[in-house]
Amino acid sequence: MNTHLLKGSCHCGAVKFEVNTPVAPAARCNCSLCRRKGALMTPPFTADQLTIKQGEDALTLYQFNTRVAKHFFCKHCGIYPFHQTRKDPKLWRVNIGCLEGVDPYTLDAGLSDGASLSVVEDA
Ligand SMILES: [Zn+2]
Repeated sequence: MNTHLLKGSCHCGAVKFEVNTPVAPAARCNCSLCRRKGALMTPPFTADQLTIKQGEDALTLYQFNTRVAKHFFCKHCGIYPFHQTRKDPKLWRVNIGCLEGVDPYTLDAGLSDGASLSVVEDA
């Protein structure tokens, strides 16, 4: 799939961003956090592909386990728009459900084996 400039936002609209990434191959991650969120993610892309247009101050950072990955969520509506990956901290993924004009339920979902990257069990 071609790379497109896509607009995205959290649920309440406090956080708005643009990202230049294909949405396929989309993946779900099986780590303990993503398992609970169930979000379908874009393929990884480099940080310069992502522009936060609004609401950087509304983002809260959540880290766990190896504390390498950075999981950002909106402190108002709780929606998680993107994260910085643990496999390579230069890479990011966006929650496809936050993107305008993209239906995550029409995409095939691959599996990203985040669980195997954890250093303790159930992380
Ligand atoms: Zn929000």
